[in-house]
Amino acid sequence: MLPFVYNALPARVIFGTGTLAQVVQELRNLGCSRAVVLTTPHQVEQGKAVKNLLGDLCVGLYTKATMHTPTDITDAAVSAVQELHADCLVAVGGGSTIGLGKAIALRTDLPQIVVPTTYAGSEATPIIGQTEDGVKTTQKTLKVLPEVIVYDVDLTLTLPSKMSVTSGVNAIAHAVEALYSKEANPVVNLLAQEGIKAIASALPIIIHERDTPSLREARSGALYGAWACGTCLGAVGMSLHHKLCHTLGGTFNLPHAETHTVILPHAIAYNTPYAADAIAKVASSLGVTNAAQGIFDLAKTLGGPYSLKELGMKEADLEKAADIAVRSPYPNPAPLEREKLLELLRNAWAGTRPE
Ligand code: NAD
Repeated sequence: MLPFVYNALPARVIFGTGTLAQVVQELRNLGCSRAVVLTTPHQVEQGKAVKNLLGDLCVGLYTKATMHTPTDITDAAVSAVQELHADCLVAVGGGSTIGLGKAIALRTDLPQIVVPTTYAGSEATPIIGQTEDGVKTTQKTLKVLPEVIVYDVDLTLTLPSKMSVTSGVNAIAHAVEALYSKEANPVVNLLAQEGIKAIASALPIIIHERDTPSLREARSGALYGAWACGTCLGAVGMSLHHKLCHTLGGTFNLPHAETHTVILPHAIAYNTPYAADAIAKVASSLGVTNAAQGIFDLAKTLGGPYSLKELGMKEADLEKAADIAVRSPYPNPAPLEREKLLELLRNAWAGTRPE
């Protein structure tokens, strides 16, 4: 056994079906009675349902959560929450809504109960990314780690097919990079393999067996995998894949989960010669012999995006993306060489299956 350091994060996790109702008791357990519910404009109806469920324990609904957590939205939300004398936040949604809750918590110290409805995994991390004047910066602080996570499989049944695939691969990306992280450790290794297996086996059922009894079980498996992968993201540092996606999302405004889906096979191929053991674990969890090709095929056959071109990236911007990716050094198994990264980006842009 290699020496390791493992920092466990405080977390209260409730997982199941129909668990949304437990938010009421969780609010009381926190000693709160004036919750504000957060959603995106797209999930207003789900937000209203949660507001109704909370009854007198809820003092308002804020529905302007936006991807990449723009600070002007956060500022407006903080004012609204303070005017309502809220004592707790209930975020219902994906990473965008949870990001807004974290941004408010960072500024107000309000406790958070989060009800995740995608597989992005933000609920399990002390990380917050925020965008101001087109620049996205990330920080890590326990101030933003949600106090309670309530996973309710029922709320994921409405997640559209394509988003299920991209969000699932986004989760797998956390586990892949955890396996070759500088801070990798036995606990996180187990969670990572479990998470990859759970999501990769659930996605084909979610896409192809939409109206069968297996669907609910598959949704449950995918959400469980999302928790496992999100926990990996919260526990150890990430590398090249997350850095590239951060650059592409922040500087070129590419969509989050879709970008992860396109980049992951190429980031795996780049790192494979330098992280053979970790990548072998990824392949075995996927049930394939080549991890990079396995992820590429999984996403493509399930209707996910597989090229940056189809996400709207301009070929002329690839050089700039490569420059940014090597600007500040960060830990990664393979050395970060501009020309090789440019080749990675060119392959991802064209949608070439990795060799
Ligand atoms: P999202 O939260 O933006 O959701 C995408 C769209 O799907 C939204 O319109 C949303 O309302 C809708 N949606 C979500 N769940 C749904 C459901 N069950 N049914 C129907 N519609 C649903 O997307 P995301 O990929 O979950 O989150 C992306 C954001 O999260 C990015 O800003 C990213 O940076 C951040 N993120 C942060 C962390 C972290 O640890 N800080 C981790 C992962 C992602």
